[in-house]
Amino acid sequence: MTDPRRTIPRTDTVLADPRLVDPLRRLGRATVKAAVAAAQQRIREAADPAWWSDPDLVVQLALAHLPRGPVEVLNATGVVVHTNLGRAPLSSAAILAVGQAAGYTDVEFDLASGKRHPRGESALHALRRAVPDAGDVHVVNNNAAALLLCALVLAQGREIVISRGELVEIGDGFRIPDLLESTGARLREVGTTNRTTARDFADAVGDRTGFILRVHPSNYRVTGFTSAPDLAELTDLGVPLVVDIGSGLLTPHPLLPDEPDAASALRAGAALVTASADKLLGGPQAGLLLGDAGLVTRLRRHPSARALRVDKLTLAALEATLLDPRTPVAEAVAAREPDLRARAEEMSRQLVARGVDARAVPSVSVIGGGGAPGVEFPSAAVSLPHRYAEALRLDRTPVVGRVEGGRCLLDLRAVPAHPGDEALVEAVLRCT
Ligand SMILES: *Cc1c(COP(=O)(O)O)cnc(C)c1O
Repeated sequence: MTDPRRTIPRTDTVLADPRLVDPLRRLGRATVKAAVAAAQQRIREAADPAWWSDPDLVVQLALAHLPRGPVEVLNATGVVVHTNLGRAPLSSAAILAVGQAAGYTDVEFDLASGKRHPRGESALHALRRAVPDAGDVHVVNNNAAALLLCALVLAQGREIVISRGELVEIGDGFRIPDLLESTGARLREVGTTNRTTARDFADAVGDRTGFILRVHPSNYRVTGFTSAPDLAELTDLGVPLVVDIGSGLLTPHPLLPDEPDAASALRAGAALVTASADKLLGGPQAGLLLGDAGLVTRLRRHPSARALRVDKLTLAALEATLLDPRTPVAEAVAAREPDLRARAEEMSRQLVARGVDARAVPSVSVIGGGGAPGVEFPSAAVSLPHRYAEALRLDRTPVVGRVEGGRCLLDLRAVPAHPGDEALVEAVLRCT
């Protein structure tokens, strides 16, 4: 008997497919051929015989292997701020602002006087207004850049005092201690993994201290016999207190009572707060620096600040986000479980009517990306047979779900109801 895998379409046949004409022109034959080979290999390894002879699948898989621009995906993982999926989706106001800023703009120009003015002044103004407790503000490329600038300006050749419980790895091998030491600052670790006291900090502070750093352990939680001093206990040790809050909440969030925010940290006496703009704030990738006006001026004037600055598109998106905080992230956080359940039930009804083995199930979603570690939100999902997980990822509207208990779950918390639900149903039907 011939091996059914022999029926996998041959390379020349696949390369002649009209859908590969444009990629061949853009990327060259070698790249496309390699993608086809990878697709054939995947199919050869597939357990499902239906895969082996479907000529369409080779092309689809090959297309998925080709380098192309970013593809919009539906985030049905239940993780609201998903770093691998680009963290925060911008609000429509921010998207509009990016489009408007894309041409020539007044980013460093004062139209009233016809003279140069500070870069991104209107975005900075919006940030100052959002956090009146900050003496001044500055925006850099991301939170890592904000920390880098603090270390360069305040602690080069000096010491940063930090708790052993806050020596954090954020993800993808990015470790805050390594970042800080790369500036020539030394870390002075105090306390233990689970417990650090104000006294530990006080004993370590001396002539060589550049600043005390507190880091929000944003992706894990130490529970049990733990303690860490309140920020207010660390403000009169004669050195600046820098607080990396991570998530970018500017003010307290009613649904996330344990999540640190910039205004509260400043009010407690932090000299500087650093945060990401593309986590709970729901804006573009950027690093926010807020705090003492004198320190912010020193950060802004450091030669390295130029290498860390943000572009006009980021400034435009950030300003729009600050002016209208109704972002997709805010909506996903606020979505109520009964509403999500009703959506999952309606979608399952539509799918069952078309012969799909779908059902609405309870689900658990999280903030992710460095926000509210350990906090779980009850959610709802459409549960499908396992094979949909891959098929949906390869669809022309890629949907990224989560595999759990041998089923593919599409969690609706981070899916905008319109047009997300219709798009999801259509994608599932295309994969059926
Ligand atoms: C996410 C995070 C960072 C890194 O922020 P980027 O904006 O990705 O550079 C640093 N510190 C904390 C506490 C974080 O949660």
